[in-house]
Amino acid sequence: RTVYVNGEYLPEEEARVSVFDRGFLFADGVYEVTSVLDGKLVDFDGHAKRLERSLGELEMANPVTRDELLEIHRELVTRNAITEGMVYLQITRGAADRDFAFPVDATPTIVLFTQSMPLIEKPTAKTGIKIVSIPDLRWGRRDIKTVQLLYPSMGKMVAKKAGADDAWMVQDDFVTEGTSNNAWIVSGNRIVTRHLGTEILHGITRAAVLRMAREVQMTVEERPFSLAEAKAADEAFVTSASAFVMPVVEIDGQPVGQGTPGPLSRRLREIYIDEMRAAAI
Ligand code: PMP
Repeated sequence: RTVYVNGEYLPEEEARVSVFDRGFLFADGVYEVTSVLDGKLVDFDGHAKRLERSLGELEMANPVTRDELLEIHRELVTRNAITEGMVYLQITRGAADRDFAFPVDATPTIVLFTQSMPLIEKPTAKTGIKIVSIPDLRWGRRDIKTVQLLYPSMGKMVAKKAGADDAWMVQDDFVTEGTSNNAWIVSGNRIVTRHLGTEILHGITRAAVLRMAREVQMTVEERPFSLAEAKAADEAFVTSASAFVMPVVEIDGQPVGQGTPGPLSRRLREIYIDEMRAAAI
C-alpha cells in the first residue's frame, strides 16, 4: 500500500512519524474518513469543511488547502486502485518536546492512507446490526473530531463481548450517538436524531441524510431521544461515512419493531447511496 506522509507518497513500510509526535503522546490531532464509491470521493467538501472546523477549535494550523487535500485523496485512490473503500486522513500538531502546553513552532504531521472494503454490499445492511447501551463517559467536546478514540474502542469491546455489533452511548437517559456513528430512530412517520451541540460529532452523513429525508417529505425532528423511546421505536438506524445508513434491529437484547430492517431505514439507505454515488467526485 502507498501512504502519504508530510508531502511524500511512500510504501507503508517506509512511512515514519516521530515518537515525539503529539498525536502519539497527547492524542493532539484530528482526523476524517471519506468513503470511496466507484473510485470517487463521497461528500469530500463536507469532510474538508469539518476538518477545517476541528483544526480551528484546537488552534491548529491547516497545512493543506482544500485543493491540495483533494489532490492527495485522488492520488492515493489511484495509486492503490481503490474502487470501494475509504481514505483516512489525520493531522496532528506535530513533534515537540513533551509539554502539555501547545508548542509554538511545531510543524503539523499529515498522514493519509486508504483501505479497500465493500461498502454497498455489506451483509449487515441486509440483516441490520445489534447494539447495546453504555454510559457516555467521553470528554465534553465531541463535536471536535479528535483521534482520542479509546472510550469508543472500549464500547465496541463491550458490544462484542455481549454478542452485539456496536454500542450507543447514553447521557442523562438520552442517547448521544454510536461509538463511530450518529443514532436515529423512527416512531410512526417521525424520524428523530439528536440535535447538534458539543455532545455529539456533527456527522457529515447525518447532515446529508437529514437533507435527503426532507427532500422526499419525510418528517424529521432534531431533538434528544431517550433509550426507552429508542427501545419502543418502530425502526432505528445509524449513519456514518463508512456505514452509510445502517439499520439497527436490536437494542440491549430487545428487538426494534419487527426485529428486521425497517422500510424507512431501507429507503433512506437507497436514496443516500444513489445520490452520493451520482455526486461523488
Ligand atoms: N459520531 C462519531 C462519534 C463518529 O466517530 C462518527 C464517524 N467518524 C460519526 C458520528 C459519523 O460521522 P460521519 O457521518 O461524518 O462519518
